[in-house]
Amino acid sequence: MSYQLVWFKRDLRCEDHAALVEATKQGPIRCIYILEPTLWMQPDIALQHFEFIRESLQDLEIQLRLRGGAVEIHVGEVTEVLTKIWQASPFQGLHSHQETGNKFTYSRDREVNKWCQSHSIHWAEYAQFGVTRGLKNRNEWQANWQKHMEAPLCELPAIQFWAAPHSGKLTRNSSAHYLTPSMMQAPMHLKHNPPLRQRGGRSIALKVLNSFLKQRSMHYRGGISSPLTAPDACSRLSVYLSYGCLSIREVVQATNEELLKMPPEASRRKSGLTAFMSRLYWHCHFIQKLESEPAIEWQNMHRGYDGLREHEFNDDYFNALKDGRTGWPMVDACVIMLRETGWLNFRMRAMLVSVAAYPLWLHWKPVGDWLATQFLDYEPGIHWSQLQMQSGTTGINVTRVYNPIKQAQDHDRKGFFVRKWLPHMRQIPNERLFEPWKMTHEEQSGVGIYVDKDFPQPIVEITIATKKSKDRLHAVRNLSEVQAGKKSVIDKHTSRAKRTTRKNPKDKAPAANLQLSLEF
Ligand SMILES: Cc1cc2nc3c(=O)[nH]c(=O)nc-3n(C[C@H](O)[C@H](O)[C@H](O)COP(=O)(O)OP(=O)(O)OC[C@H]3O[C@@H](n4cnc5c(N)ncnc54)[C@H](O)[C@@H]3O)c2cc1C
Repeated sequence: MSYQLVWFKRDLRCEDHAALVEATKQGPIRCIYILEPTLWMQPDIALQHFEFIRESLQDLEIQLRLRGGAVEIHVGEVTEVLTKIWQASPFQGLHSHQETGNKFTYSRDREVNKWCQSHSIHWAEYAQFGVTRGLKNRNEWQANWQKHMEAPLCELPAIQFWAAPHSGKLTRNSSAHYLTPSMMQAPMHLKHNPPLRQRGGRSIALKVLNSFLKQRSMHYRGGISSPLTAPDACSRLSVYLSYGCLSIREVVQATNEELLKMPPEASRRKSGLTAFMSRLYWHCHFIQKLESEPAIEWQNMHRGYDGLREHEFNDDYFNALKDGRTGWPMVDACVIMLRETGWLNFRMRAMLVSVAAYPLWLHWKPVGDWLATQFLDYEPGIHWSQLQMQSGTTGINVTRVYNPIKQAQDHDRKGFFVRKWLPHMRQIPNERLFEPWKMTHEEQSGVGIYVDKDFPQPIVEITIATKKSKDRLHAVRNLSEVQAGKKSVIDKHTSRAKRTTRKNPKDKAPAANLQLSLEF
């Protein structure tokens, strides 16, 4: 008996899973995940991503076993794996979610498409975000997003799993060799698995969602900017959305339900959840940019900025940044926190990119590849759009420069954050902590901590270096041809979102009450 093949990608769940549901409606199904050697060789991938996926697949395996099935892990390039499976037991259709990934997955999906055509297989791809494939312009985008989020969650009927011929049940080696999730082994070359990172799987994701909706959202407004409060105040859902342990639609709908049943006295939580909802909209808004223009992963969104930073990359500066040795305590503490936990809040991510792009004058691409390996929640669409926006190469956003000394004064007033991640600096008094190189010799011997010996001087003088960089950027920005080039970027990538005012507070339509912020 033939079957439908369900290819799990960055959608590691059973709930609200269009590919699984639609395949199941058409007959017996077989579920696979493919470990692609070439994908794991890309510069934007790390061991932490592999381990997170493994944990999520173990959780998925439990969910599928409860329904009488399993997920097969195949190792190989996708078209090779499909060929082997096909030769052993041909399938009728291939089902997966659309992926807005990196250059590698984009080309791979084109190959898969060709393979399907040559085997007369229909490849059904389903949207899992509010992202529109083949979008001509942004005019209808917000309405499409809203429609996607308001649609009912896909309900999974009873599944009939395909049984390999002659065996009566799924077994290893029955038709093509495969592994179970617990047998997965990370490729030897992969590095970086932060000890304090979030763990994978839908069961954990649901707990994180629940604790945020019911409690932690209380601190969202006012708590998300400081790296001290952000780890609890932020939802921490990014990685579960990136790997699809949760669907964004179920998060939007659960948030909206929570908003609708909230008593008036819960105003702090309400404003927190409203602000959070805007971020869920930004999520898809940014991914749409990469979907519409895959090249923004490797070339400037506005080509008028080509050549600006490409030819002056300073490896010493880059190494100092990666090692947490820039000499700016707030920057170095963020790098260490990121290394240990795989996560940073938005403001501190923006500050790291700003320091790289302005005082250090580093091109966003190598910086972005490095940060992608550090962020457990690496989502190419958000990541590359943000890298370009924070580096000033979109041509349409205001120049964003975050001074790390001011950020420290504003968001770590008493120095708890810097002292936590840079313990060797604990004895430095508050008034010198964020600019320790200003300590006099007496002050240094008083605390027994010495400039150059115990911590480095800043690698550049920040005010002068930042001003020089901004001047260079603005000189390009003011060129008439660069000004003229803005229109096509605006047409393609900017939101036409309108602030929706809430007419009826009892309005039941999910997502209808969105207060969308236009800060993009
Ligand atoms: C340089 C840079 C790179 C980034 N790279 C990524 C990335 O690879 N993956 C990623 O998920 N986020 C990325 N972000 C956006 C943001 O920093 C993270 O989404 C957020 O810190 C994740 O924590 P959270 O889930 O607790 O966020 P919350 O504040 O609770 O937000 C909820 C969700 O909204 C989305 N979101 C939040 N902020 C943004 C934003 N500014 N733009 C788009 N979507 C947003 C995320 O899906 C997030 O999970 C990046 C930001 C910057 C400045």
